Amino acid sequence: MLSLYIRISSGVIKQMDINKHIALNDSYKNGKKKPWRLRKKQSNQLANSYKRIGEINKSLRVGSCGNVLLFQECPDGHQKQLVRAFFCKVRLCPMCAWRRSLKIVQQLKSMTHIVNQSHSLKWVFLTLTVKNVSGPELDETIRHMFQSWQRLSQRKVFKDNVKGWFRALEVTRSNSDGSYHPHIHVLLAVTAGYFAGKNYVRKEKWRVLWQEALRSDYMPVVDIRKVKVKRNPNQEAETLKSEEQKRALEAAILETAKYPVKPASYAVPGNRQGTDDAVRHLDRALRGKRMIAFGGVLKQAQQKWNNENNGEAETLTDGEKKECQCATCGSNMLEHLYTWNIGLSNYIEHEH
Ligand SMILES: [Zn+2]
Ligand SMILES: [Zn+2]
Repeated sequence: MLSLYIRISSGVIKQMDINKHIALNDSYKNGKKKPWRLRKKQSNQLANSYKRIGEINKSLRVGSCGNVLLFQECPDGHQKQLVRAFFCKVRLCPMCAWRRSLKIVQQLKSMTHIVNQSHSLKWVFLTLTVKNVSGPELDETIRHMFQSWQRLSQRKVFKDNVKGWFRALEVTRSNSDGSYHPHIHVLLAVTAGYFAGKNYVRKEKWRVLWQEALRSDYMPVVDIRKVKVKRNPNQEAETLKSEEQKRALEAAILETAKYPVKPASYAVPGNRQGTDDAVRHLDRALRGKRMIAFGGVLKQAQQKWNNENNGEAETLTDGEKKECQCATCGSNMLEHLYTWNIGLSNYIEHEH
Protein backbone atom coordinates (compact mmCIF):
# COMPACT_ATOMS: atom_id res chain seq x y z
CA MET A 1 0.00 0.00 0.00
CA LEU A 2 2.71 2.39 1.02
CA SER A 3 5.12 1.55 -1.80
CA LEU A 4 2.22 1.95 -4.20
CA TYR A 5 1.64 5.44 -2.89
CA ILE A 6 5.30 6.35 -3.26
CA ARG A 7 5.30 5.07 -6.82
CA ILE A 8 2.22 7.07 -7.65
CA SER A 9 3.56 10.22 -6.07
CA SER A 10 6.96 9.98 -7.75
CA GLY A 11 5.15 9.21 -11.02
CA VAL A 12 3.21 12.42 -10.59
CA ILE A 13 6.43 14.34 -9.98
CA LYS A 14 8.03 12.93 -13.14
CA GLN A 15 5.01 13.81 -15.21
CA MET A 16 4.92 17.37 -13.95
CA ASP A 17 8.63 17.72 -14.46
CA ILE A 18 8.26 17.37 -18.21
CA ASN A 19 6.47 20.68 -18.36
CA LYS A 20 7.93 22.59 -15.48
CA HIS A 21 10.35 22.46 -12.64
CA ILE A 22 9.09 21.97 -9.14
CA ALA A 23 10.19 24.93 -7.10
CA LEU A 24 10.62 24.81 -3.34
CA ASN A 25 7.56 25.81 -1.39
CA ASP A 26 8.17 26.09 2.33
CA SER A 27 5.99 28.11 4.69
CA TYR A 28 5.83 29.09 8.32
CA LYS A 29 3.01 27.77 10.47
CA ASN A 30 1.05 30.97 9.83
CA GLY A 31 1.15 30.27 6.09
CA LYS A 32 3.70 32.97 5.21
CA LYS A 33 6.24 31.81 2.69
CA LYS A 34 9.78 31.34 4.00
CA PRO A 35 12.30 33.63 2.27
CA TRP A 36 14.66 30.90 1.01
CA ARG A 37 14.96 32.38 -2.45
CA LEU A 38 15.50 35.98 -1.32
CA ARG A 39 18.12 35.02 1.27
CA LYS A 40 19.97 32.89 -1.25
CA LYS A 41 20.06 35.77 -3.73
CA GLN A 42 21.32 38.13 -1.00
CA SER A 43 24.00 35.61 -0.02
CA ASN A 44 25.11 35.41 -3.63
CA GLN A 45 25.44 39.20 -3.74
CA LEU A 46 27.55 39.11 -0.59
CA ALA A 47 29.69 36.34 -2.13
CA ASN A 48 30.30 38.58 -5.15
CA SER A 49 31.37 41.42 -2.90
CA TYR A 50 33.73 39.17 -0.93
CA LYS A 51 35.23 38.10 -4.24
CA ARG A 52 35.79 41.70 -5.33
CA ILE A 53 37.59 42.56 -2.08
CA GLY A 54 39.83 39.51 -2.40
CA GLU A 55 38.23 37.35 0.32
CA ILE A 56 38.09 34.35 -1.97
CA ASN A 57 37.62 31.73 0.72
CA LYS A 58 34.67 33.53 2.26
CA SER A 59 33.26 34.21 -1.17
CA LEU A 60 33.22 30.50 -1.97
CA ARG A 61 31.69 29.58 1.36
CA VAL A 62 28.95 32.20 1.26
CA GLY A 63 28.32 31.44 -2.41
CA SER A 64 27.64 27.79 -1.67
CA CYS A 65 25.62 28.44 1.50
CA GLY A 66 22.30 26.60 1.38
CA ASN A 67 22.93 25.24 -2.12
CA VAL A 68 21.41 21.88 -1.21
CA LEU A 69 18.45 21.45 1.09
CA LEU A 70 17.06 18.13 2.20
CA PHE A 71 13.49 18.23 3.50
CA GLN A 72 11.31 15.62 5.07
CA GLU A 73 7.70 15.99 4.03
CA CYS A 74 4.37 14.36 4.71
CA PRO A 75 2.95 13.23 1.33
CA ASP A 76 -0.29 15.02 2.24
CA GLY A 77 1.49 18.25 3.10
CA HIS A 78 0.81 18.35 6.85
CA GLN A 79 4.42 18.70 7.80
CA LYS A 80 7.67 19.74 6.23
CA GLN A 81 11.04 20.18 7.89
CA LEU A 82 14.57 20.86 6.84
CA VAL A 83 16.66 17.93 8.01
CA ARG A 84 20.00 18.52 6.30
CA ALA A 85 21.78 21.40 4.62
CA PHE A 86 25.13 23.11 4.41
CA PHE A 87 25.26 26.58 5.92
CA CYS A 88 28.48 28.63 5.70
CA LYS A 89 28.15 30.33 9.12
CA VAL A 90 29.96 33.43 7.90
CA ARG A 91 28.85 36.29 10.20
CA LEU A 92 27.49 38.57 7.48
CA CYS A 93 25.77 35.83 5.47
CA PRO A 94 22.05 36.76 5.10
CA MET A 95 21.01 33.11 4.79
CA CYS A 96 22.82 32.16 8.00
CA ALA A 97 21.63 35.31 9.81
CA TRP A 98 18.04 34.34 9.02
CA ARG A 99 18.50 30.73 10.14
CA ARG A 100 20.29 31.86 13.30
CA SER A 101 17.62 34.37 14.25
CA LEU A 102 14.92 31.67 13.86
CA LYS A 103 16.95 29.51 16.22
CA ILE A 104 17.49 32.22 18.80
CA VAL A 105 13.80 33.12 18.81
CA GLN A 106 12.85 29.48 19.27
CA GLN A 107 15.41 29.09 22.05
CA LEU A 108 14.42 32.32 23.84
CA LYS A 109 10.73 31.46 23.72
CA SER A 110 11.29 28.17 25.45
CA MET A 111 13.81 29.65 27.88
CA THR A 112 11.68 32.60 28.97
CA HIS A 113 8.80 30.17 29.42
CA ILE A 114 10.93 28.00 31.73
CA VAL A 115 12.17 31.02 33.68
CA ASN A 116 8.66 32.46 34.06
CA GLN A 117 7.44 29.22 35.57
CA SER A 118 9.96 29.20 38.39
CA HIS A 119 10.42 32.94 39.04
CA SER A 120 8.10 35.87 39.45
CA LEU A 121 9.50 38.26 36.85
CA LYS A 122 8.66 41.24 34.71
CA TRP A 123 10.32 41.93 31.38
CA VAL A 124 11.94 45.09 30.11
CA PHE A 125 13.33 45.91 26.68
CA LEU A 126 16.45 48.10 26.77
CA THR A 127 18.39 49.64 23.88
CA LEU A 128 21.85 51.09 24.46
CA THR A 129 23.48 53.22 21.82
CA VAL A 130 26.60 55.23 21.12
CA LYS A 131 27.29 58.06 18.69
CA ASN A 132 27.61 57.00 15.06
CA VAL A 133 31.14 56.03 14.04
CA SER A 134 33.10 55.65 10.82
CA GLY A 135 33.94 52.28 9.27
CA PRO A 136 37.52 52.10 10.60
CA GLU A 137 36.28 52.91 14.15
CA LEU A 138 33.62 50.21 14.20
CA ASP A 139 35.73 47.29 15.42
CA GLU A 140 37.10 49.15 18.44
CA THR A 141 33.72 50.76 19.21
CA ILE A 142 31.95 47.39 19.43
CA ARG A 143 34.73 46.03 21.64
CA HIS A 144 34.33 49.05 23.91
CA MET A 145 30.54 48.66 24.03
CA PHE A 146 30.83 45.05 25.13
CA GLN A 147 33.27 45.99 27.89
CA SER A 148 30.93 48.79 28.93
CA TRP A 149 27.99 46.39 29.04
CA GLN A 150 30.10 44.17 31.28
CA ARG A 151 30.74 47.12 33.60
CA LEU A 152 27.07 48.07 33.65
CA SER A 153 25.92 44.55 34.50
CA GLN A 154 28.32 44.47 37.46
CA ARG A 155 26.78 47.54 39.10
CA LYS A 156 24.90 47.01 42.35
CA VAL A 157 21.77 48.77 41.10
CA PHE A 158 21.77 46.42 38.10
CA LYS A 159 22.28 43.28 40.14
CA ASP A 160 19.60 44.31 42.67
CA ASN A 161 16.97 44.67 39.96
CA VAL A 162 17.93 42.41 37.08
CA LYS A 163 17.65 38.66 37.52
CA GLY A 164 18.48 37.67 33.97
CA TRP A 165 19.30 39.17 30.59
CA PHE A 166 19.83 38.46 26.92
CA ARG A 167 21.82 40.90 24.81
CA ALA A 168 22.27 41.11 21.06
CA LEU A 169 24.31 43.48 18.94
CA GLU A 170 22.86 45.21 15.93
CA VAL A 171 24.75 47.40 13.48
CA THR A 172 22.98 49.63 11.01
CA ARG A 173 24.55 51.92 8.46
CA SER A 174 23.41 55.33 7.38
CA ASN A 175 23.05 55.56 3.62
CA SER A 176 23.38 59.33 3.69
CA ASP A 177 26.84 59.66 5.25
CA GLY A 178 27.99 56.01 5.41
CA SER A 179 28.46 56.11 9.18
CA TYR A 180 27.70 53.11 11.38
CA HIS A 181 25.32 52.86 14.27
CA PRO A 182 26.17 49.93 16.56
CA HIS A 183 23.67 49.38 19.37
CA ILE A 184 22.84 46.74 21.91
CA HIS A 185 19.35 45.32 22.40
CA VAL A 186 18.74 43.77 25.79
CA LEU A 187 15.85 41.81 27.16
CA LEU A 188 15.92 42.18 30.93
CA ALA A 189 14.13 39.95 33.41
CA VAL A 190 13.52 42.19 36.42
CA THR A 191 12.19 41.45 39.87
CA ALA A 192 8.41 41.58 40.27
CA GLY A 193 8.71 44.68 42.49
CA TYR A 194 10.84 46.59 39.99
CA PHE A 195 8.13 48.96 38.81
CA ALA A 196 6.86 49.73 42.28
CA GLY A 197 8.52 52.01 44.78
CA LYS A 198 12.13 52.77 45.42
CA ASN A 199 13.72 50.14 43.18
CA TYR A 200 12.38 51.60 39.98
CA VAL A 201 15.19 52.71 37.63
CA ARG A 202 13.99 55.54 35.44
CA LYS A 203 15.13 56.10 31.88
CA GLU A 204 17.29 59.05 32.91
CA LYS A 205 19.01 56.84 35.47
CA TRP A 206 19.67 54.19 32.81
CA ARG A 207 21.22 56.87 30.62
CA VAL A 208 23.56 57.93 33.42
CA LEU A 209 24.45 54.31 34.18
CA TRP A 210 25.22 53.66 30.52
CA GLN A 211 27.27 56.85 30.23
CA GLU A 212 29.28 55.89 33.30
CA ALA A 213 29.84 52.41 31.90
CA LEU A 214 30.87 53.89 28.54
CA ARG A 215 32.98 56.55 30.23
CA SER A 216 31.84 58.86 27.46
CA ASP A 217 32.00 62.64 27.44
CA TYR A 218 28.48 62.83 25.98
CA MET A 219 25.11 61.58 27.16
CA PRO A 220 24.24 58.51 25.06
CA VAL A 221 20.75 57.78 23.75
CA VAL A 222 19.02 55.01 25.69
CA ASP A 223 15.59 53.55 25.21
CA ILE A 224 13.77 51.51 27.80
CA ARG A 225 10.32 49.99 27.48
CA LYS A 226 8.27 47.73 29.64
CA VAL A 227 7.15 44.59 27.82
CA LYS A 228 3.47 45.44 28.08
CA VAL A 229 0.31 43.53 27.56
CA LYS A 230 -2.17 45.52 25.53
CA ARG A 231 -5.25 45.81 27.71
CA ASN A 232 -8.40 44.28 26.39
CA PRO A 233 -11.46 45.56 28.32
CA ASN A 234 -13.38 42.34 27.71
CA GLN A 235 -10.62 40.17 29.01
CA GLU A 236 -11.17 38.67 32.40
CA ALA A 237 -10.03 35.10 32.42
CA GLU A 238 -6.59 34.61 33.92
CA THR A 239 -5.64 32.16 31.17
CA LEU A 240 -6.32 34.75 28.50
CA LYS A 241 -4.15 37.24 30.35
CA SER A 242 -1.20 34.89 30.57
CA GLU A 243 -1.67 34.06 26.87
CA GLU A 244 -1.43 37.77 26.04
CA GLN A 245 1.57 38.24 28.27
CA LYS A 246 3.23 35.43 26.43
CA ARG A 247 2.51 37.12 23.12
CA ALA A 248 3.87 40.49 24.32
CA LEU A 249 7.04 38.79 25.46
CA GLU A 250 7.37 37.00 22.12
CA ALA A 251 7.15 40.32 20.31
CA ALA A 252 9.98 41.65 22.48
CA ILE A 253 11.99 38.51 21.77
CA LEU A 254 11.54 39.02 18.02
CA GLU A 255 12.73 42.60 18.40
CA THR A 256 15.82 41.58 20.41
CA ALA A 257 16.81 38.61 18.28
CA LYS A 258 16.57 40.21 14.85
CA TYR A 259 19.52 40.11 12.48
CA PRO A 260 22.77 41.65 13.72
CA VAL A 261 23.27 43.25 10.31
CA LYS A 262 20.49 43.55 7.77
CA PRO A 263 21.62 43.04 4.16
CA ALA A 264 20.34 46.56 3.46
CA SER A 265 23.02 47.90 5.81
CA TYR A 266 25.86 47.00 3.46
CA ALA A 267 24.18 46.57 0.09
CA VAL A 268 24.34 50.09 -1.29
CA PRO A 269 22.08 50.18 -4.35
CA GLY A 270 23.96 51.03 -7.53
CA ASN A 271 27.21 51.54 -5.67
CA ARG A 272 29.62 48.63 -5.76
CA GLN A 273 32.43 50.53 -4.12
CA GLY A 274 30.17 51.57 -1.25
CA THR A 275 28.93 48.01 -0.83
CA ASP A 276 32.43 46.58 -0.82
CA ASP A 277 33.69 49.16 1.70
CA ALA A 278 30.77 48.35 4.00
CA VAL A 279 31.39 44.60 3.68
CA ARG A 280 35.06 45.12 4.48
CA HIS A 281 34.36 47.23 7.58
CA LEU A 282 31.54 45.07 8.92
CA ASP A 283 33.41 41.84 8.29
CA ARG A 284 36.40 43.09 10.22
CA ALA A 285 34.34 44.59 13.04
CA LEU A 286 32.25 41.48 13.65
CA ARG A 287 35.13 39.03 13.48
CA GLY A 288 35.52 37.09 16.72
CA LYS A 289 32.78 39.04 18.53
CA ARG A 290 30.08 37.42 20.61
CA MET A 291 26.99 38.71 18.91
CA ILE A 292 24.67 37.41 21.60
CA ALA A 293 25.10 36.65 25.30
CA PHE A 294 23.04 35.56 28.27
CA GLY A 295 23.25 36.38 31.97
CA GLY A 296 21.68 35.37 35.29
CA VAL A 297 18.65 33.09 35.23
CA LEU A 298 18.60 33.19 31.42
CA LYS A 299 22.17 31.96 31.31
CA GLN A 300 21.25 29.06 33.57
CA ALA A 301 18.24 28.30 31.37
CA GLN A 302 20.44 28.47 28.27
CA GLN A 303 22.95 25.99 29.67
CA LYS A 304 20.10 23.65 30.57
CA TRP A 305 18.53 24.12 27.12
CA ASN A 306 21.85 23.38 25.40
CA ASN A 307 22.34 20.20 27.39
CA GLU A 308 18.84 18.98 26.63
CA ASN A 309 18.98 19.91 22.96
CA ASN A 310 22.50 18.74 22.30
CA GLY A 311 23.97 21.72 20.51
CA GLU A 312 20.78 22.06 18.47
CA ALA A 313 21.17 25.84 18.31
CA GLU A 314 24.25 25.41 16.14
CA THR A 315 22.78 23.26 13.39
CA LEU A 316 20.59 25.92 11.73
CA THR A 317 18.22 23.27 10.38
CA ASP A 318 14.61 23.25 11.59
CA GLY A 319 15.66 21.59 14.79
CA GLU A 320 12.59 19.43 15.08
CA LYS A 321 13.38 15.83 15.80
CA LYS A 322 13.66 13.71 12.70
CA GLU A 323 10.35 11.96 12.55
CA CYS A 324 9.49 8.94 10.48
CA GLN A 325 5.76 9.51 10.55
CA CYS A 326 3.61 12.57 10.10
CA ALA A 327 2.22 13.67 13.46
CA THR A 328 -1.14 14.51 11.86
CA CYS A 329 -1.94 11.58 9.57
CA GLY A 330 0.71 8.97 10.40
CA SER A 331 1.94 8.67 6.81
CA ASN A 332 5.60 7.90 6.30
CA MET A 333 7.58 11.06 5.74
CA LEU A 334 9.30 11.32 2.36
CA GLU A 335 12.63 12.96 1.61
CA HIS A 336 12.81 15.72 -0.98
CA LEU A 337 16.04 17.23 -2.14
CA TYR A 338 16.15 20.78 -3.50
CA THR A 339 19.14 22.39 -5.13
CA TRP A 340 19.77 26.02 -6.03
CA ASN A 341 19.46 26.49 -9.78
CA ILE A 342 21.53 29.44 -10.98
CA GLY A 343 19.76 29.76 -14.34
CA LEU A 344 16.28 29.77 -12.83
CA SER A 345 17.49 31.62 -9.73
CA ASN A 346 15.36 29.37 -7.57
CA TYR A 347 15.35 26.15 -5.55
CA ILE A 348 14.29 23.25 -7.76
CA GLU A 349 13.48 19.74 -6.67
CA HIS A 350 16.23 17.31 -7.52
CA GLU A 351 15.01 14.29 -9.43
CA HIS A 352 15.65 10.94 -7.80
ZN1 LIG B 1 25.63 31.24 5.14
ZN1 LIG C 1 0.34 14.03 7.19
